[in-house]
Amino acid sequence: MAMRMSTLFLRTLREDPADAELPGHKLLVRAGYIRRVAPGVYTWLPLGLRVLQKVEGVVREEMNRIGAQEVRLPALLPREPYEATGRWTEYGEALFRLQDRKGSDMLLGPTHEEIFCLTVKDMYSSYKDLPLSLYQIQTKYRDEARPRAGLLRGREFIMKDSYSFDVDQAGLQKSYDAHREAYVRIFDRLGFEYVIVHADSGAMGGSASEEFLAVSEFGEDTFVRDEHGYAANVEAVQVPQAAEVDASAVPAAQVHDTPDTPTIDTLVARLNEAHPREDGRAWTAADTLKNVLVMLHQPDGTREPLAVGVPGDREVDPKRLEAQVAPAEPEPFTDEDFAAFPALAKGYIGPGALGEDKPAGIRYLLDPSIAVGSEWVTGADERGKHVLHLVHGRDFTADGTIQAAQIREGDPSPDGHGSLTLARGMEMGHIFQLGTKYAEALGLKVLDENGKLVTVTMGSYGVGVSRSVAAVAEGNRDEAGLVWPRAFAPADVHLVATGKDEAVFVAAEEIVSGLEAQDLTVLYDDRRKVSPGVKFKDAELIGVPTIVVVGKGLADGKIEIKDRRSGDRREVPVEDAVAEVLREVRG
Ligand code: ATP
Ligand code: MG
Repeated sequence: MAMRMSTLFLRTLREDPADAELPGHKLLVRAGYIRRVAPGVYTWLPLGLRVLQKVEGVVREEMNRIGAQEVRLPALLPREPYEATGRWTEYGEALFRLQDRKGSDMLLGPTHEEIFCLTVKDMYSSYKDLPLSLYQIQTKYRDEARPRAGLLRGREFIMKDSYSFDVDQAGLQKSYDAHREAYVRIFDRLGFEYVIVHADSGAMGGSASEEFLAVSEFGEDTFVRDEHGYAANVEAVQVPQAAEVDASAVPAAQVHDTPDTPTIDTLVARLNEAHPREDGRAWTAADTLKNVLVMLHQPDGTREPLAVGVPGDREVDPKRLEAQVAPAEPEPFTDEDFAAFPALAKGYIGPGALGEDKPAGIRYLLDPSIAVGSEWVTGADERGKHVLHLVHGRDFTADGTIQAAQIREGDPSPDGHGSLTLARGMEMGHIFQLGTKYAEALGLKVLDENGKLVTVTMGSYGVGVSRSVAAVAEGNRDEAGLVWPRAFAPADVHLVATGKDEAVFVAAEEIVSGLEAQDLTVLYDDRRKVSPGVKFKDAELIGVPTIVVVGKGLADGKIEIKDRRSGDRREVPVEDAVAEVLREVRG
């Protein structure tokens, strides 16, 4: 097939679009692949749609290979099933909710566990029907808080989502493993560097949930890895509970005046000045216990305060905290919140006020690195006062622990071997052993071999298809434009005809027909009134891997073949054009 640029629905832009943030995204807009309609909502233009369909094709092939069956469920969904699983509320502000003309609540699907579950329940009733894996490549809707990164975080986006149905855990594990293998093949073929990381707390077993992250400085996820192959999303890192230490030599807790020390830095300076340590070493932030207050906003609108105690040399990591308290959303404590809890002395908050049974009545959770028996300097719950030698377990307790402290480069691996390095990635895929949560809520049961009803166990697996287009673009570009890998280019060949000489266009048309006859897709720049310079710029910007130029050289019977990636160019006789291009394209 040939796309003629004289009629192709395409406008390239010389200037970067104002809304775009990432270089690959800017190029997709400038080269006429996509166009923004609203924040996080994009139109796929002819070239973009071709790339998208190629990515979809890879995903489809690999899903079919593991025996998953393609279906397409609606995006417009009724409220009831999401009510039954709690997600109508739990999904919070990210869910697009709407009403039909009769006033019935509906939603635009952010992901489809409920509806797949009900579809299977409608049709299947026996263990003999299972295992089953279904998938769709479909538009999803999420009202993302920060839809700024273009296709990477859309509010309307395309996902491949699949769901597996098994009678027992062994079956689920098999379905999960098959999906994992399919994902490895998909992301190998997409060609970007990726890591597979643990994505959940591990409470359900080591591989209950894993993410495929494209390694990228633009990624919104932080992950850790160690030299032994452990890799985890930072949200999933489980800092081990520190072993108890002997506190028998620690003196009794003492309250001291520490005026004007509402921050850790001012406190440490004051301690070193006015209360030097007996062992001669200086106080550091790590000797202090920092108590951070947040207000949890529950999806049902209720609010609940929470206090998190971390060593003073670490911050509370917002993403780790979010993951721990989901579906609630943590917000910083406001002055009004402080006013509502007079037992809290802002800047001097200590465990004396915190805990469900303490004066402020606020749930208090500690970082697990805070060992029983360890001593701390922390707030004395009075303006301008701190307490020294406060021992965990002797002088204070908390209501539990929370995995919310910042993870740092060099921290020990959770398994005790090796140390962690940090990097950034974009979540491209996610595989998840759901278990029976959805099937239970929606009553998906089948009869087992003994005629007994058992609840089906499910897995859920997602690939960001539109996000993958953005990731491929991000990873394949240069100063001049996009540089598509052959498998995802919108065309096999970009043929540029230059000059005014009619013979050039006649020869070019002939080459186009020859290439079409070989089943190649040609993007043919047949525009008559556009200068060669503009055509070459457009070809670089659009990024088709092979560029053929039919122009001045034709007088000597020559055309030029150029490799977009390496910039290598060679002249070949015009009569060999089709054969030479085929060699480039098919290798
Ligand atoms: P993220 O952490 O990036 O918000 P998620 O964990 O909410 O993603 P899942 O619910 O696991 O995403 O969805 C499966 C896949 O769909 C993700 O791995 C990602 O590739 C893609 N995806 C999720 N949200 C978006 C979005 N807003 N825009 C484009 N792709 C998305
Ligand atoms: Mg995910």
